[in-house]
Amino acid sequence: MNSSKKCPQCGQWSRWSQSPSDRCEHCQAILDPQAVERQKARQQREQEEEKRFSIEFIQINPDDSWFTKFYKRIGLGFQIAFASIVSLIIWLIALLAG
Ligand SMILES: [Zn+2]
Repeated sequence: MNSSKKCPQCGQWSRWSQSPSDRCEHCQAILDPQAVERQKARQQREQEEEKRFSIEFIQINPDDSWFTKFYKRIGLGFQIAFASIVSLIIWLIALLAG
């Protein structure tokens, strides 16, 4: 959808496709600085959420003792169970939100 927007910098009207990256045809100023800020904030939030849900899985080394391997496997089992529950919750939220 195309519309026009008054440039906040030079006050002239420019074509605006309602995208945060649109710039003024006259002075190249960003037409909607607030949208750019909003987009940046959203991207930052998404990155933080990704970090929160990413799990570092325990690595089992071939030279670990049988005891180390044993408890590492138990820990890994818990991690995998936890990861599946988290992804199930994320999936449910996405389903309910959509
Ligand atoms: Zn301008």
